[in-house]
Amino acid sequence: MLKVAYHPIFKYSLPEGHRFPMAKYELLPQYLLDQGICTLDNFFEPQKVSEASILKVHTEDYYRRLLKLEIDKKEVRKMGFPLRKALVDRGHYIIDGTIKGCEYAIEYGVSMNSAGGTHHAYADHGEAFCLLNDQAVAARHLLDLGIAKQVLIVDLDVHQGNGTAKIFENDDRVFTFSMHGAKNYPFKKDRSDLDIGLDDGTEDAEYLEVLYNTLPKLIKKVNPDFIFYLSGVDILKTDKLGRLSCTIEGSKERDRFVLQTCKDHNIPVQISMGGGYSPDIDLIIEAHANTYKMAQAVFF
Ligand SMILES: [Zn+2]
Repeated sequence: MLKVAYHPIFKYSLPEGHRFPMAKYELLPQYLLDQGICTLDNFFEPQKVSEASILKVHTEDYYRRLLKLEIDKKEVRKMGFPLRKALVDRGHYIIDGTIKGCEYAIEYGVSMNSAGGTHHAYADHGEAFCLLNDQAVAARHLLDLGIAKQVLIVDLDVHQGNGTAKIFENDDRVFTFSMHGAKNYPFKKDRSDLDIGLDDGTEDAEYLEVLYNTLPKLIKKVNPDFIFYLSGVDILKTDKLGRLSCTIEGSKERDRFVLQTCKDHNIPVQISMGGGYSPDIDLIIEAHANTYKMAQAVFF
């Protein structure tokens, strides 16, 4: 069964006019139910992750300051939204959703988090809507408990996974792969184990060819026993922040290929959703929902 992490706190709303579309975290689960892609049985409610788990990745100093909301103005500007306790709490539930999602992925082959993909969060600071790094904490959790020995992170959000890259730069147990818009934020990129920066306006055919040529080889080389997939849909041409020009069909084929490749190699995969900033919220929802559709079609 496809298990999907969802908690009411995911839909925490930002002040009016903010460009980060939080509405999707409420609209998407409803859409999945309305379209028959999921039933209520598919969803599970994460809890608040423990401090010990968070400190596997984040520094004690940053975490303490985050809890007390003692983050200076410059740092808050980098985060991109006004810091509130509810947002810090939300980060804890997202991480638990990703960690529990790993257990479900091991049981069923795949699982989803209806939030997360907070790959711009570093060990000691937050950036670009990301406070705490859900897949990084979950990866350390799997490795520390001996559940996984070699992890591969496949980050296909249009923005490079700078926080994740930096966190694991000296950790051979985690291979970080990011394919993104070369000219997109972050402008100064910390180096992943493999970075593929694509030109502005890259379309489906070229995008998919690079992916087809890269992922199977990478799995052979890294030999992971667990994969994290960050399935941001900000690769669409319509995206306000992304500089690539993929279509919704191309994005769907991307998801199908990643998931089919994981299944063919019998490697469990946990998916966090990541970005999506098309002006038309219905399109964002449809593009994200396609990831769930593909997970259902490939695995169940
Ligand atoms: Zn993004």
